[in-house]
This record gives sequence, C-alpha cells and structure tokens, in this order.
Amino acid sequence: MAIYARFEHNKKKSYGTVADGRVDELQGGLFEPPRFTGRQFPIEEVKLLAPCEPLKVLAVGQNYISHLGERKTPKNPEIFYKPISSLQDPAGPIEIPADAEDVHFEGELVVVIGKTVRNATREEAAEAVFGVTCGNDVSERNWQRGAGKDVQWWRAKGCDTFAPMGPVIVTGVDYSNLLLTTRVNGKVMQQQCTSDLIFDVPTVISFLSRYLTLTQGDVIYTGTPGNTRAMKPGDVAEVEIEGIGTLRNPVI
Ligand code: MG
Repeated sequence: MAIYARFEHNKKKSYGTVADGRVDELQGGLFEPPRFTGRQFPIEEVKLLAPCEPLKVLAVGQNYISHLGERKTPKNPEIFYKPISSLQDPAGPIEIPADAEDVHFEGELVVVIGKTVRNATREEAAEAVFGVTCGNDVSERNWQRGAGKDVQWWRAKGCDTFAPMGPVIVTGVDYSNLLLTTRVNGKVMQQQCTSDLIFDVPTVISFLSRYLTLTQGDVIYTGTPGNTRAMKPGDVAEVEIEGIGTLRNPVI
C-alpha cells in the first residue's frame, strides 16, 4: 500500500508520497519509478491538488440499486463524461452557477487508471487500476432531468468545480468492499459499501475499454448510492471512504 498526493508549495506543483503526516516530494510523475527530491513537508503546510491529471474523466450513472428508485437496472454500465475542467482540488470550493436551481452532491469511489488498456478482460482491467480516491460527482438535477433538461449533461455534470477529487490516491487497497459516507455540514447523507456496486470496477473498465483506450491518469467516478439532496452556499460537503480519507469542499 502507498499513498500519493499532488500538491503545491511555494507555487511549485509536485507529486509526492504521504506517510506520518509528511509529504515526500517526487521528481517525476505518479507512474514513474519513485525518485525523491529529498524535500519533505508537513502535509498541513502544502496545498493539496486533485491527485492526478487525467486526459479523461468518466463516470458511471445508476450503479447502486439504492440510487435507482423507479428506474430499471441498466444492462450495461451507463457511462458519461465530465470535462477535465470540472476537476476541483480537495478543499477547493464547489461553485454553484447563478442560475442553477438544484445542485446535488454524489459521493463516489474514484478509480485511477495506471496503464493503457484497450479491449481488456476483467483480469486485465483489474491490473490496470493504479489506485483509488474519493470523488464528488456534483450534479444539477434541473439541467440533468428536470424541466430545464438539456440534451446532454455538459453542464448538469460538467460545470467548473463539479468534480472534486482527492485528497490522496491509495494504491494496493482492496477497493471492492469499502464503506463510503457522504456528509453535508457533518450530517450523514449517504452511506454504503462499494461491494454494492451493480457493475464492479473490473467490469466497468473492461466495458469502457471495448470502445475507448484508457490511459494513465484517466479517472472513473463509479457511481453514487442512496439519495442525494440540494446543497446551498455555506454548506460543506464531505466524501469519506474507509482506507482513503475525506474529501471536504465548501459550497459557494
Ligand atoms: Mg454520479
């Protein structure tokens, strides 16, 4: 098991490994053999950034029975894109657009791809996972499926700051059975185990890779459990996953 962060210190952005409350700066990226610069910082003295730099942010909808409501279980994973411009750092604000009416949290396990995959079997898909982190698939329900529904989810799921991710990437963890908890202002809103995913992580990656080449750093938001609610300015949204940590973003 290892813990990786991306961080900013004195305007320099770096990757690092995390242990004992300290970040050890890496010379290169996430996927190179680790070589350290020798610089270390207490983690509270750096600004944590979204922990990788994907070329694609993919997400799975309707992937927990508890979130489906009246909808039928999908035959295949229901995939959509979020733009990379929607990524937000741990602790960065979720900005509600002026004319948005119904912006919800969606606490999710996020998978980080570690190697190029195309037409992967489930086994190959499992081997392509670099690590996991927490994500909030922020969603404007009116633009997604309400009276103001757009043809595509470009803004419902894709506004700037609608994809907070972090705080760190954990590798070598069994992500198939982790407790996920979402809180708003400290109150539990969602709580479920990742073992309840309808399409598990290898199935989702294998399915995606029949159509898309996945490359190092790409991320997949795996779906949200249970019910969600609207957030308002002043709220604080937290997504905690056992063994990973807590992603905490204020809403403005
Ligand atoms: Mg979602």
